[in-house]
This record gives sequence, C-alpha cells and structure tokens, in this order.
Amino acid sequence: MEPTAAAALREARARLGGHGRDARLDASRLLEAASGRDRAWLLAHAGDTLDRHDFERFTGYVARRERGEPVAYILGECGFYGRSFEITRDVLVPRPESEHLIELALRRLREAAARGPRVCDVGTGSGALAVTLCCELPSLEADGIDLSPAALAVADRNARRHALGARIAFRIGDALNGLAAGRLFDGILANLPYVPTAELQDHPDPTAFEPRVALDGGPDGLDAYRRLLERAPHHLVPGGWLLMEAGPGTASALADLAGRAFPASAFVEIHRDYAARERIVAVRG
Ligand code: GLN
Repeated sequence: MEPTAAAALREARARLGGHGRDARLDASRLLEAASGRDRAWLLAHAGDTLDRHDFERFTGYVARRERGEPVAYILGECGFYGRSFEITRDVLVPRPESEHLIELALRRLREAAARGPRVCDVGTGSGALAVTLCCELPSLEADGIDLSPAALAVADRNARRHALGARIAFRIGDALNGLAAGRLFDGILANLPYVPTAELQDHPDPTAFEPRVALDGGPDGLDAYRRLLERAPHHLVPGGWLLMEAGPGTASALADLAGRAFPASAFVEIHRDYAARERIVAVRG
C-alpha cells in the first residue's frame, strides 16, 4: 500500500534533512512534479493515498536529491526572477544572487531604454540573464555568447519559451573574442567562471553536479574575466555599463583589473548581495 501524500512528504523531509532548511520546500516541489499536482491540491488531499507510479517517481527524485543533485537538474527546470527556465546539466543552475545583476542592469539601462538598447550576455549558459532582461525591457535586444554549444541550445530554447526568438542572437565564442569590431553595447553582463581552481573541490553544492567549464576560473578565479576585460572597452558605447558577477573572494581583485582595463572611467563600483558579500563589479565605459 502506498503512503499518503502527507506521510510521503514527512519521510522525504527526514531523508533530505541533511540538505538544510530547504528540505521541506524541496520535498514539496519534488512531490508536485512527481504527481503533476500543485501545492494547493496536495495540501487539500494530504490524507489521500498516492498513486503507485507517482510514488515511485517521487522516491526516485528524493533519492537523487539525497545524493546532492540540485532540484533544478532533477526537474529540468528552475525559477529565476519570477520566470521559469529549462535547465540541463550543460548549464549552471541560476542563483538568486544573479538576480542582483538583473536589478542593477535594469537601473543602469533605464536611461538607454528609450532608444532601444542592446546588451551582451557573456557566458550566457541557460540564457537566464539575457531572457530576463529582454522580458523586463521590451525595447531591448541582446546577444548571448557562450563557449558551449550544448549550453547555447538550452539558451535558445529558453528564448523561445519566452517568445523572444527574434530579439536575442546567440553565438558561440570565448568571452568577446571574435566579435565584429564596431559591435557596440549599452550594457555587457557577465557571469563567467570565477571559482579559483583549488577551491572547486571544497565549493558548496550544487557545484559538484555543474559543468566545470562554467565554474573554473583558473588559479585566481579571474582567467575568463581577464579575457573579457581585454575586449570589453572596444564594445561598450560611451557611458555604457559592464556588469560582472564575481565571488566574495575575487570581487576586489576583479575591480582592480577593471580599473586598469578602463583607465579613464570614473566609475568602478563593487555591489554586495543581501548577505553583504561583495558580488558585482560595475564599470562605466
Ligand atoms: N555562483 C557559483 C558558485 O559560487 C559560481 C558561478 C560562476 O563561477 N560563475 O557557486
């Protein structure tokens, strides 16, 4: 006999307890996906016995989560800035911290919004940044660049999922190398690999499941950003913004590099996330 929804959730929460205070939420999301029912339905039917196939699917999901696999990979989907994105193991799981990059870009692009700005999302991965910005600013057009063809396929599907096919041009590339001279942007956003190689093995989950090429920033975590900073000054309109996500341990070194790449810029700012960790380096071109 299969358990009730309430009993299955209780058992799953206990098993996932090792994965922090999110165990309750994770168990509930996995049961919603396994049963095809939403949270409200499951609450109203907490005492009903689960369907056998749904229960088996749920048990499989919980076992994967118990091994540390992120819910986004198990479900093939993740929320970011209020929208849903397809996620596969070819791309990083979008982090809430990256929503700060969106907030900042929206503030910085406000002036340019009237003239139809163009942004470039470097290391686009799932496309979450480019797609979100295009959804938020209807006058915006974007380029999305990534080294990984598999990631670009996911990004392209996400653009179509949000009906943005015509407004985002995805291309394969390493940082801004190979981009036509004279291609200018009002904003360049980047979430490039920034974890120092030696820290990768101790890095908190879910990185063990994520593509290393999207995380490994070389000995000091800044290899990819060095390549970006070589080209970025040539691709920003005067007064345009370069916004780069960094790790708490790398942001100030990145700000120094950015200052050297843009010697005439009066604006090199470091922004913090809600946990007050240094997170974003912003430079005005
Ligand atoms: N935010 C990721 C982490 O620290 C790293 C992402 C990246 O390297 N761009 O878990």
